[in-house]
Formats: sequence, structure tokens, C-alpha cells
Amino acid sequence: MNSPKKAILYSAQKPTEAQKQEILDFLEKKYDCEVLLKYECDEKLVNGFRISIGDDFYDWSVETRLQQLQNQWMKSLKKSNNQIIPLLQDSLENWTPTVMANQVGHVLSVGDGIATVSGLQKAEYGEILIFTNGIRGMVQDLRKNEIGCILFGDDREISEGSIVKRTGKMAGIPVGEGFIGRVVDALGNPIDDLPEIEAEDYYPIERQAPSIIERQSVNKPMETGLLAIDSMFPIGRGQRELIIGDRQTGKTAVALDTIVNQKGKDVICVYVAIGQKASSVAQLCQNLRQRGAMDYTIVVCATASDSAPLQYIAPYAGTSLAEFFMHKGKDVLIVYDDLSKHAIAYRTLSLLLERSPGREAYPGDVFYLHSRLLERSAHLSDELGGGSLTALPIVETQAGDVSAYIPTNIISITDGQIFLESNLFFSGQRPAVNVGLSVSRVGGDAQIKAMKQAVGSLRLELAQYREMEVFTQFSSDLDDSTREQLRYGQGLMRLLRQPQFSPLTQAQQIYVLVAGLNRLFVNIPLNKIDKVKQELVEYIDNVASEISVEINHTKVLSDENRERILLLSKEFMKKVPEYGINKGN
Ligand code: ATP
Ligand code: MG
Repeated sequence: MNSPKKAILYSAQKPTEAQKQEILDFLEKKYDCEVLLKYECDEKLVNGFRISIGDDFYDWSVETRLQQLQNQWMKSLKKSNNQIIPLLQDSLENWTPTVMANQVGHVLSVGDGIATVSGLQKAEYGEILIFTNGIRGMVQDLRKNEIGCILFGDDREISEGSIVKRTGKMAGIPVGEGFIGRVVDALGNPIDDLPEIEAEDYYPIERQAPSIIERQSVNKPMETGLLAIDSMFPIGRGQRELIIGDRQTGKTAVALDTIVNQKGKDVICVYVAIGQKASSVAQLCQNLRQRGAMDYTIVVCATASDSAPLQYIAPYAGTSLAEFFMHKGKDVLIVYDDLSKHAIAYRTLSLLLERSPGREAYPGDVFYLHSRLLERSAHLSDELGGGSLTALPIVETQAGDVSAYIPTNIISITDGQIFLESNLFFSGQRPAVNVGLSVSRVGGDAQIKAMKQAVGSLRLELAQYREMEVFTQFSSDLDDSTREQLRYGQGLMRLLRQPQFSPLTQAQQIYVLVAGLNRLFVNIPLNKIDKVKQELVEYIDNVASEISVEINHTKVLSDENRERILLLSKEFMKKVPEYGINKGN
């Protein structure tokens, strides 16, 4: 027999001795111990009673029984395809109310989106708890006699000592096709003033990443439509490519361009905004809508004014939404904008939960925070439908310092990074990709052969140009060949400039590369290169559309096509004498 337990019986009337004995018998049998029963008057419980023993709570009040009836009714309603009358009869006849032990705890303290709760010994990590007024929280910290819980609602509505119940469910988010084109918060509730979203399923926000067997290698390109990226740092479907740079260097713009470029390519996009201004997110949604990109995009939004718990779960929730489509065999692109703010939200939570701070006051598990998130990106095997989840996490650096804590962590988790530099951005080189520091570690396999053939030694030539630029910075009299080499390099850099929302197709990028690397732009004044490039691409598309068809079909750049592109480019340059005709060609 176990040690004795205390039980409290709440009801409006004092129980008779016989009733008391009946309850005692039940409890002693159930808990296999001696029970000391105490009575407390509760005016509200006219027709029923409640018993609390240890962590457990038996509720036999009228409201609870009616709630049970309602639940049963709703369940059968779903089964019987909404045939209400026979169903009502059926559920009333078969209604057998049961009384079950419910674990309850009490709030010890609450504030800043965090509550500590006593009791609930059996609560699990990540489980959802229900507070008064239906506010939900998630178990984040299991200690000896209390648990730390993050709250997803307004903590001002919760008072000390109020009751907390377990749900036995892990935190999750509703998912479904209906989410496409919608803006939702981190819990999946719509925030765009459109009707309710019909969910098809409920996914936990934290899921195990696909295992090695369940994956296949990354072998299809995820085109960004940006020449500077697709040519030198190609991204594959299922890859994780970090976009890193100081504030206001066009990080969001690169991600946004990539989303816009997925139009008509059967890719679902998820944009997760973490800790941004609500006005920026509204502007972004407006941009997507204007360009028809909202038809295949979901925006998950936890703004700067949302509580730290919501900002913390937003990327996980967004990933679960994305996984729903990946499991259906679709290709999905997810943007986390940005993970620096996510890490800060997590730091806030951890400090409030009294975890010990480490480097830069981040908790010890901040690496795991992002590795378990990014590891969920994958290219699934054909047996599992062959879907993919490509991640573009964004990280903000301070004064270009990529060796700070969070940037180094995420650089080591991802398969490469696009490094955007303030100096380049302000000198007008946009997208401000730093060619020397950017890399894509798997993308080469994902690049189409035609692009590889066209791009040739572009990176090398740019590297030579940068070196030469440094050497010649102070010397005024340069020989002709050096001067030409410099002009060539400058021209190449100009070709990599691209305004926002004007993606180039793979074929168009190939035209530019073939013409550029054959030095056709050397004699064109720098400030005219943007315009010439644009017109050249349109010209070739107009007079020889079959080239792009062939490239898209065969994925290779045949020698004939290369010659034709060159020929057409020269022809175009001659036609437009104001641009200046190349001397050597
Ligand atoms: P933040 O740190 O505030 O998030 P960010 O790095 O995401 O900034 P963006 O908001 O993408 O930067 O871009 C900053 C500004 O630069 C925007 O006004 C955007 O329109 C402009 N911009 C970005 N890319 C280009 C481009 N390729 N051509 C012209 N303008 C651009
Ligand atoms: Mg941004």
C-alpha cells in the first residue's frame, strides 16, 4: 500500500456519510492508499461535485458533463455527414457520461509571455497546456517541482493560482491547401481579413527531419532568376542556402525575387516573417500580390509586436506547413526572414525561463535551435513522392562580421551562403553579391549543363578583376592591356546588376553570359550596359525564340546555339551604333 493521500471534495451541499464512504472507497481502490477526504463548500457546484487528489482532478459538474455531451455530438456529426435529427436521438440515447481524472496544475507566477506552473508531474516537453480563458501555452522547461511554459496568448488574463490543464497534445498547426495565398500568424490563424481556412490535417510544429534513407541527392535547380546567383552560386531543390548581410543590403529582395521567379513553375512558397515591422510585411504581401506571386505563396507572420513565444515557434510552424506540401510530392521553397531575430526571441525566452546564458547571452542550445529547423529541408526519395523543401534562411550581420556567434552557427549548418555587402550595395551594385565570399556547396550538381557551359570561368575572371582593381587603385598610367582588362571586369560586374522584380530565365542568362564573356560589352559605356543587356536579351528572344526552347528542352548549350547567340549579339550591337561598335569584333 502507498502512503496516505489528501483529497478535497468541492460541492454546494455537504455529502452524506454514505456518499462520503462511496467516494473514499473509489479513491482508495484507485490509488491503492489510505485517503483523507476533506470537504469544501463551493456554491457554484449545485448539481455535481469536483474532487482534487494530488495532481488529479475529477470533475462531475454540470458544465463538464454537458461539454462531454457536446464533444460526443460533434464527433458523431462528423461521422454521419451532418444528418442532424437521427444523430441527436442517437447521441442522447447512447450518452454515458464518464468521470475521468484530469491532471491539473496551478499557476505559480506569470509575466512576459512565460508562466511557471506547479503540479502536472506527467506533462511532457512540447505539450500544450490550457490556461484560464482558453489561453494556450507550451511546456518548455521541466524542473523538479514546477514547469516553465511559454504562452501563446495575452498573459495579463492569467492570474496567479489559476488552474492549468493538460491536453496531451503536442503543439501543432493546421495545414491544408486552403492556406495557399493566405497570411497567417504563427498558430495558423488567418490575419488577412479573409474567411476561415479549412484545414485538412494537423501537423506538430516540431517534426523529425527525414532520415538519410528517405532522401535523395539534390539534383534539380531552384532558379532565383538573378544572374549573379544562378550563374555562380546555383541553388538546388532541397538545399539550404543562407542569405547573409548587414541591414538594408537587399537580403529580403533576393528572397522575394526568388519567390516571384517561381511563377508558373509549380513551386509552393512559404515566407516566414520573424520580428519584422508589420508595415514591412504588409508591403511585402502587397508586392507579392501585385506580381501574382501570392497565388502560390503562404506568409507566416510573427511581427515585432508579437510575443517572443510566437516569434520562436513561427519558423517551425512555417516548416510544418511547407512539409505538408512536400509530402504531397511538391517542390516547396521556404524563406526564414530572419533567423537573427529568431535567435534573439529564443534568447529572451531562455533568459526568462532562467536558463544559464552563454556566449553573447544566448543559451547553450542555440545551435540546435537552428540545426533542427534547417535539417528539415530535404529532397525526398522517389518512394516518398520526390517532393523537396528548399530553405533560404536570412541572417543579419553587424558591420559585415560573419564570424559572430549566430552567423557562424548558421553558416556551418547551411549548404552555402550568398554574402551581400553594404559597400557594393551603396555603390549601386545590386544585388550586392560578394563573389569572393559567397559559395554554394551542392549547387553545381543542380545547375543545368547549358548554364555550366555558358558560365565557364566567370568567377575566375571576376577574381582576377578584383585583384587587379586593388593593385591599380593608385597608379594613374596603365598600359592598354591592363586598362582593357579593367574595363572588361567592370563590364562583367555591370552585367551582374539586376533591378528588383525582373527575373531572367535560364536561357536569357545564358545569352548575357555568352555575349559578356566573349567581350562584346567591352566598348560599351558603363552607364549604358544595363540598357544594352536588356535590349539584347529581348532581341534574341524575338528573332530566335527556338534557342531558348532548345535549351529548356535539352538542357545543354550546343555549339551551334552558342555561335548563333554570338552572331545575333554582334548583329544587335551593330544595329545600335549609338552604343559604339566593338573594335575587335
Ligand atoms: P533589412 O535589414 O531592413 O531587412 P534587407 O537587407 O532585407 O533590409 P531590402 O529590404 O531587401 O534589404 O532592401 C533594401 C532596399 O534596397 C529596398 O528599398 C529595396 O527596394 C532596395 N533594393 C534591394 N535590391 C535591389 C535591387 N536589386 N535593385 C534596386 N533596389 C534594390
Ligand atoms: Mg529584410
